[in-house]
Amino acid sequence: MELIKKLKEYLVEYKKQFILLILIVLLRNAIDLSRPYITKIIIDKGIMVKNLTIVNLWGIILLLLLLIYSRFMAVETLISNKIQQGIVFKLRNKVYHKLQKLSLSYFNKEKKGDILSKLMSDVEQLQRIITDGFIIFLMSVITFFGAFIILLRLNKILTLLMMIPLSGIGFLVYIFTEKAHKGYREVRKIRGELTSSLQENIFGIKEIKAYSREKQQLSRFSFKGRKFFKINVYVAKLWATYQSWIIFLSSLGYLIVIWYGGRKVLSEEITVGTLVAYIGYLHLLYTPIHQLNHVNHLMQHARAAGERIFGIMDAYSDVKNLPNAIVLTHPLSGKIKFEDVFFAYENENYVLKNINFEVESGEKIALVGPSGAGKSTLVSLIPRFYDVSKGVIYIDNRNIKEYKIFYLRSHIGIVLQEPFIFSGTIAENIAFGKENADMDEIIEAAKLANAHEFISELPEGYETDVGDMGNILSVGQKQRLAIARVFLKNPSILILDEFTSSLDAESEKLIIDALKRLIEGRTVFIIAHRLSLVRNVDRIFVLNKGEIVEKGAHIELLRKKGLYYKLYNLQYPLAEIEEEINALNK
Ligand code: ATP
Repeated sequence: MELIKKLKEYLVEYKKQFILLILIVLLRNAIDLSRPYITKIIIDKGIMVKNLTIVNLWGIILLLLLLIYSRFMAVETLISNKIQQGIVFKLRNKVYHKLQKLSLSYFNKEKKGDILSKLMSDVEQLQRIITDGFIIFLMSVITFFGAFIILLRLNKILTLLMMIPLSGIGFLVYIFTEKAHKGYREVRKIRGELTSSLQENIFGIKEIKAYSREKQQLSRFSFKGRKFFKINVYVAKLWATYQSWIIFLSSLGYLIVIWYGGRKVLSEEITVGTLVAYIGYLHLLYTPIHQLNHVNHLMQHARAAGERIFGIMDAYSDVKNLPNAIVLTHPLSGKIKFEDVFFAYENENYVLKNINFEVESGEKIALVGPSGAGKSTLVSLIPRFYDVSKGVIYIDNRNIKEYKIFYLRSHIGIVLQEPFIFSGTIAENIAFGKENADMDEIIEAAKLANAHEFISELPEGYETDVGDMGNILSVGQKQRLAIARVFLKNPSILILDEFTSSLDAESEKLIIDALKRLIEGRTVFIIAHRLSLVRNVDRIFVLNKGEIVEKGAHIELLRKKGLYYKLYNLQYPLAEIEEEINALNK
């Protein structure tokens, strides 16, 4: 019921088609219910009294009805498919839209493969219940009650006898439903895990080969595959037992009718036509039970799929626009202030503690510190990838939560160590930085990013397809594309996260040259492990265990001989550093 309520919103749009569908189903039902009665007329009033005219006349009527019936079925299939596809399209888009709005914490918790499985396989499962399930349900209920009423009119005692196997069937349905639901929920969950594992194995194929882990990965994958196999076999067993009992009980019903009805024909209490019609109606009584059974099967699948899909829809996004969030008509200038900021990914395990600083617009800041100190986390709070746990971040003297998220993020550019390149052309990838960017702007951005040259040498230049996730490009080329994106975006705040590690000297030179142009006139946060790269920034913040332990210019920090000095010492010989300090002292 919960599921139907949630799906209602998607059904409303197809109200007219649904009414037409119900009408056709009702007419089809009427034809179904009339067939045994026409047979009774042909037997009792035609065959038994040797009246050929009656046999011919009702024979033709039956033929016409069957023709109409088959046309109805064709129209019904068409309409139901249209509704199904339309609803799935809308539902999938809605889930996708919701996913885009969820904060990064959701994606940290959920496995990507499982999300994919929900979006594809679970949505398709739901589609089946929407119309297939609905039509079968409607047909079955009407046929069942129609047949039951006619059976009662034909013979009350026989009908009451029929109730014995029927009640057994009702009891079975009750038991099966809950067991099957639990089973199907597990099936869908493990299917998600399997997709996840498959996805990891495909994305991590280089590592798997490099470490010769094929065998181990295969056995991990097989382990999950076996789990999936086992749960499916369990559900199939459940279904097989259930179905066989249903068939036994309905056959028992036939047996009762033939035995008891046969005796009544022999004692001439009922006609042969009535007995044949009775058997026909009995068929109409039991077929819906089998069909309802099938609907139940679909429903249990759909309930499990629905729980997973609506789980996404109900997921809470912890980063949201405030009701009165604003959009300014001018860009942000890039003045940033952290005031008593604390942050924890989970519970109260703070990975940033008591962070306080002010950065002027256009200032260049480097964040350095040991691995895991919290550098990436600190910069991810500026575009509100996560919200602070305590404290406030201000940009241009306003709490960043006062701005609409899209406005805030449209003024922040980010270059990551391994930027994500989407499938599509080079031009499309650069244009990711600005909606409706024209070709001239794209080329200009590429030139500034020192990417124009290599792009021009590609077979189709800017129209070259970069392949799946940009696999035809080197890391350095990907980074230059990412820099071109930022040139196009032209943000006032720039975050450079570990952007030059793992590059050859030639690539690095081109990138550093492009970056020098990029950082001009913007507020910049640079995270770099190689300290030679941060020497020329205005100030360096040294982080350790989530706290800023030192702040100052390169030389000041060297003179202080604190953590920065120690970190620097790990990369440069002490003598060289002393020489540098002495040179600057002079
Ligand atoms: P590195 O230089 O190695 O990139 P970092 O200084 O940038 O490190 P962060 O990546 O900010 O450090 O991580 C800070 C702490 O937060 C670490 O202890 C890390 O384990 C933890 N952490 C990072 N990302 C998450 C996450 N998504 N969920 C939970 N904890 C996280």
